[in-house]
Amino acid sequence: MNYEDYKKAVAQLNLYSHHYYVLDDPLTTDEVYDKLYHEVLEYEESNPDKVLKNSPTLRVGDVIADGFTKASHLSRMWSLEDVFDGEGLRAWLNKTYKLDSNISFYCEPKFDGASLNLIYEDGELVQGITRGDGTVGELITQNVKTIRSIPLTIEYKERIEIRGEVVIFKDEFEKINELRIKNNEAVFANPRNAAAGSLRQLDSSITASRNLVFLPYGVGENSLEHKLLSQKMEYIYELGFRKPPQRAKCKDFDEIQSIYEVMNKDRDSYPMMLDGMVIKVDEIASQIDMGYTVKNPRFSVAYKFPAVEKITTLKEIVLQVGRSGAVTPVAIVEPTDIDGVVVERATLHNFDEIDRKDIRLNDKVIILRSGDVIPKIIKVLTHERDGSQLAYKRPTKCPVCFSELLDEGVLLKCQNLKCEARVVNSIIYFASKPCLNIDGLGSKIVEALFSSGLVKSVIDLFSLTLEALLKLEGFKEKKSQNILNSLESAKGCEYWRFINSLGVEHIGEVASKTLSDNFGSSFIDATKEQIVACDGIGEEMAESVLEFVRVNKETILKLQDILKPQEPIQKEEAKENPFKAKTVVLTGTMSESRGVIKEMLERLGAKVSGSVSKKTDFLVYGEDAGSKYEKAKGLDIVCLTEEGMRKLISESGL
Ligand code: NAD
Repeated sequence: MNYEDYKKAVAQLNLYSHHYYVLDDPLTTDEVYDKLYHEVLEYEESNPDKVLKNSPTLRVGDVIADGFTKASHLSRMWSLEDVFDGEGLRAWLNKTYKLDSNISFYCEPKFDGASLNLIYEDGELVQGITRGDGTVGELITQNVKTIRSIPLTIEYKERIEIRGEVVIFKDEFEKINELRIKNNEAVFANPRNAAAGSLRQLDSSITASRNLVFLPYGVGENSLEHKLLSQKMEYIYELGFRKPPQRAKCKDFDEIQSIYEVMNKDRDSYPMMLDGMVIKVDEIASQIDMGYTVKNPRFSVAYKFPAVEKITTLKEIVLQVGRSGAVTPVAIVEPTDIDGVVVERATLHNFDEIDRKDIRLNDKVIILRSGDVIPKIIKVLTHERDGSQLAYKRPTKCPVCFSELLDEGVLLKCQNLKCEARVVNSIIYFASKPCLNIDGLGSKIVEALFSSGLVKSVIDLFSLTLEALLKLEGFKEKKSQNILNSLESAKGCEYWRFINSLGVEHIGEVASKTLSDNFGSSFIDATKEQIVACDGIGEEMAESVLEFVRVNKETILKLQDILKPQEPIQKEEAKENPFKAKTVVLTGTMSESRGVIKEMLERLGAKVSGSVSKKTDFLVYGEDAGSKYEKAKGLDIVCLTEEGMRKLISESGL
C-alpha cells in the first residue's frame, strides 16, 4: 500500500463507519471492513509519521447523529483489538505477558449488538448512553427503561457505570421481520442492525416493542473492591443483570483456545448472535497497570469467529412452487464458502422485497448464513453497480404448469390444482414426519413416482405394487419393499396425523390435534360455529377447513377408508393439581426433552402453548432460557424452574 492507497483506504473506512455506526445501514461486511482496517494499521505501523488524524485506528465509533441529546460517559468507552486465529492469539498473549507475566484470563462471548453504558446513582438508573465516540454518546434513557432485562433500581448504592451490549434474540429478529413483511415494510438486514436501530429511536414505544435484551460485559466508573474481573461480573449478575450463556476463567493459550472452540461450535444454539469471544486479563490491578492505547484496552482482545456474512454475486432468480401454489423466488448466487459450507442458494423472502430492495441480476449482494437457517440475501450493494445489472421482471406465469399466476402483491400464486409442483409437494408433505411419517418417501422418490405416471395423487400411493416399482429405474427389490412396508404401516395412524397430512391451509400440527381431539372423524361434518369454539382456532382457520372439506370430501373419505386412522381416545379427566386447565409455556434446556415434559403436563390437564401471552399462567424454564423468559417476567407471569414445577406436582400428591 502506498500513501495514495492509504489515504483512499482511510476515506473508505470512514465512509463504511458512518453507514455502520450512524445510519445503522452498513455498506459492506465486517470481514471486508476488518481486512481493509488491518491493511491501514500495517501501513501506519511502518509509516508512523504519515498517520492521518482522521484515521479510524485513532478513534472509537463515529460522530453521533443529530436529533438526540448528547451526554458524556463518566469514564471512557473503548473499542477492542481483534485477532482471527491461534497465531494472532499467541502474538497477543506474548505482547500481554511482556506487560505482566503473572496473569490469568476471563473469557466471555462477544455479543453482536450495540454497546450501552448505564449510569446508576443511589441505586437508581439515571442515564443510558450509547457508546458514540467513546467520550460522548446519545442520551437514550427513556428507551433504555423499556428494556426489561435492565433493572431500574439496584441494591448497590454507590455511583456505578455498567456496560453491556444490547441485542435482539435470533427468534425475535425473525418474528420482527415476518411482521414487517406482512405489513409491507423493509426487513432488517441482521440482528445487530435491528438492535442498534431499535435502541436509537426517537420514539420509545418503538424500542419497547422490539424485545431488546441487555447483556452486561463490564463496568466503567465504579468503587467495587473485587480483585478479579470475574468476581466483579458475578456481583453484577447478582444485582439482577443477565448472565452470558458461557463464561470461563482460563490460565493459558490452550485453555483459551479450547473454550473458543466450544463457543464457536455452540454459537448457533445461543439465542443471540455472537461474532467472537472476548478475552480479558482477570486481575484488576494488572488491568490498571496495562492501561490503554489510543483506542483499545491493552488487557483485552476480541478473538473473532469465522464470518457468517459474505459478499457474492446474484446470478439468477429461480421460482419454487409450494403445495399451496405459493410461488417463492430463490436466489442462485456465485458459490461462496461461509464458515465451511458452500452456499449457492439464498432466500429472497418475496417479490415485494425484490422490488423494494431493487434487486437486480448480477448485483453484488451480502448473504448471511447463520445456524440451520436458510441463507438469506440481506443487502444489495447498489453502490457497486457497474452497468451490467439487469432488472428482474415479476413472473406472470407458473414456471411449472405455465398457467396464469394470481398476483396478491406480496405473494404470487399458481391456482392450478393439478400443477405438477403443487401435487408433488403435497405428496411429499403427506409423507413427511409431522404427517403420516412414511419412511423412504422423500422428495426424490416422490418425484420419480410422479414422473413415471404411477402416482398422480396421494391415493395412488396405496395401489403401488412391487412389480410396478421394480420396473422403475433405480428401484431395487429392497428399497421398493421398504416403501411398500412403510405405506402399510401408515395405516391405523393417529387421527390428528390424518388431518394434518391433508395439508389444509392454515391448519398445522397443533390445530390438527385440536380438531382431532374435538371431533375425530366427524370433523368433516363440523359447523363453522363448532370449529371456532375450539381453543386456538380462529375464523380464517375454520373457513379454510370448511372450504377444504367442501372441495375434497370424496378424497377425504376414500383416504380414510384406506388408512383407517384411529379415532382419538377420550382423555380421562386429570386429578386436581396446580397445572390443571392452566396454560403453560416451556423454554430453555431441561433435564428431559421438552416433548416429554409437555406430555407429562398434558396428562395433568394443562395446555402447553408455544408462545407467551397474557393468557399464559406458568412459564417453566430450563438453562439458557431466552426471550420467552424475558417476556414472561415482563408480563408478571409465574416463572418456575423445572425443579420448581416438579416440586409443585409432587406437593399435590401426584
Ligand atoms: P468491536 O465491535 O470489535 O469491539 C468493541 C465492542 O464490542 C464493545 O464496544 C462492545 O460493544 C462489544 N462487545 C460485545 N461483547 C463484549 C464483551 N463481552 N466484552 C467487551 N465488549 C464487548 O469494536 P468496534 O470499534 O465497536 O467495531 C469495530 C468492528 O465493527 C469491526 O471489527 C467491524 O467488524 C465492525 N464494523 C463494520 C463496518 C461495516 O461496514 N461492516 C463498519 C465499521 C465497523
